[in-house]
Amino acid sequence: MPQIKILPSDLRNKIAAGEVVERPASVAKELIENSIDAGSTDIRIDVLYGGKRLIRVSDDGTGMDREDALLCFERHATSKLSSEGDLFNIRTMGFRGEALPSITSVSKIKLVTGIKSAPSGISVEINGGEVKEIKDFPAIGTTVEVRDLFFNTPARKKFLKSNSTELFHIIDMVTKEALSHWEIGFRLTSDNKETISLPSASGIKERIMQVYGEEFLEGLIEANAEADGISMKSYVSRGNNFRNMKSHQFVFINNRPIRDLSVSHAVYSAYEGILPRDKHPIFFLFLDINPAKIDVNVHPTKREVRFENKETIYRFVNISIKEAVKSERSEYTRQFTEMPETVASQTVHGTYSPPYHFPFPVHESGVSENLELSYRPSLPFVYLGDTFVALSGKGGLTLIDHHAANERILYEKFLKGINLNAHRLLFPKQVKLSHKEYRVILENLQILGDFGIEIDDFGHETVIVRSLPDVLKEADMRGILSDVASCIIEGVSPDKSFKEALAARIACHSSVRGREILSREEISTLVTDLEQTEHPDQCPHGRPTRIFYSLDDLKKMFKRK
Ligand code: ADP
Ligand code: MG
Repeated sequence: MPQIKILPSDLRNKIAAGEVVERPASVAKELIENSIDAGSTDIRIDVLYGGKRLIRVSDDGTGMDREDALLCFERHATSKLSSEGDLFNIRTMGFRGEALPSITSVSKIKLVTGIKSAPSGISVEINGGEVKEIKDFPAIGTTVEVRDLFFNTPARKKFLKSNSTELFHIIDMVTKEALSHWEIGFRLTSDNKETISLPSASGIKERIMQVYGEEFLEGLIEANAEADGISMKSYVSRGNNFRNMKSHQFVFINNRPIRDLSVSHAVYSAYEGILPRDKHPIFFLFLDINPAKIDVNVHPTKREVRFENKETIYRFVNISIKEAVKSERSEYTRQFTEMPETVASQTVHGTYSPPYHFPFPVHESGVSENLELSYRPSLPFVYLGDTFVALSGKGGLTLIDHHAANERILYEKFLKGINLNAHRLLFPKQVKLSHKEYRVILENLQILGDFGIEIDDFGHETVIVRSLPDVLKEADMRGILSDVASCIIEGVSPDKSFKEALAARIACHSSVRGREILSREEISTLVTDLEQTEHPDQCPHGRPTRIFYSLDDLKKMFKRK
């Protein structure tokens, strides 16, 4: 008796759906990409319950005639390919003819579509692959409604996350499509509330600004290049604008959002030497490559591509960004090396300018062997570079990373909620966030309040910061809120509490930035405050804040012992 049988088409479709339809966001992606391919200028997306109950995508594109409207639900039915040659010259978002049949097999779908030249359009309703109703319906353009995703595959439905998590995935996806199709207007409502509203933009730059705001854009430089049949337009981090999370990294190839480790690596490597450890650049890369040189048919949801020549792309991206960063960097280093006279004398030659009086003789080393000194305000110090401070005292030499030290101090202050000195701002700050960040921040106002950050909703993805702890007065609020939001979305590692993770994030922003040189008083306050923390030797990320060499250690190092 034969063991092998051909599966019925219903089951085949469900299996295929497993690849394409992972969650509501994947349905929305396929429908939006169909609308893009149909030449739409306006795309509207409505979702209910994180897309679990409804995902509706309406467009003003070409629409379909009656025959196509029935054919489009068939597997491998597409208007975008006709020969094998086409497969290597793909300029459309879709081409596999799989999305609609896959979605149809695991949901209740209704298609209403019509073309301009026909007197009437058509409405087709299908439940779990079974046709329910076909009738004439007035329409120009296309609307696809997908209800009750996975209603007939409970095993898959179980894997769906909370409504708000599913909505975040949808927001992310709409944002990606909107970034690479700036000429199209996008609107997303969730549970009847407007969530994204992006009118047609004049270019990528305007679209990034619509999504993230002007301040965000100011932290980026433009890097454009063209060579060997590849061209790139990109917006990437300035040399001093890095993030704690990888949340703003996008690669688009021929307008298709993709993930590619090698391209990301090329960007990171362009920042070699200036990218601090544990920090991440922001990048928006829009690459245009001859479709014959790439294979987009490697992943069912088309989120990966294969390059004919990977190294060429790597080098191209790497060099183009390196050049842009370098020219911006030269400006940065110039500011650095031309330090004002007063600061330079204080930091390079160290220490000894009146009116400070030192209670002990100051030698070259500043360390007195027979005095068990504790740190005190007038202790001499030397700046080493822009981050390290060398101090004598306690019978030895202490090297302090003043950035890390400050982070430790602030972290504990935030965690305990003490001495934060929150003040109402005379001029409240408006901060424009991305849609996703905006929602997360509004859902977590209380916890920010515990850190002395008082925020109100200002509408249109903007919040208004009314109160801040003193230490955050100068801080980049957009960066903080964006980091806090990613931290909440991505969750915290099990060994940390939520509050600890957020406190570490915020402390990192508020502490002294690399380029700032501290005054003598600030150093002594820093040293005293550090001493009073619970873990003075490590910053919240586990890096050392200070390293101590006793005279004994030094003697050993110099082979005197
Ligand atoms: P693919 O996009 O890979 O061709 P789909 O299953 O997503 O496959 O869609 C099948 C076909 O249905 C498309 O090739 C297109 O001709 C038609 N179609 C789908 N959505 C739309 C739309 N919004 N407007 C016009 N035509 C559409
Ligand atoms: Mg498609």
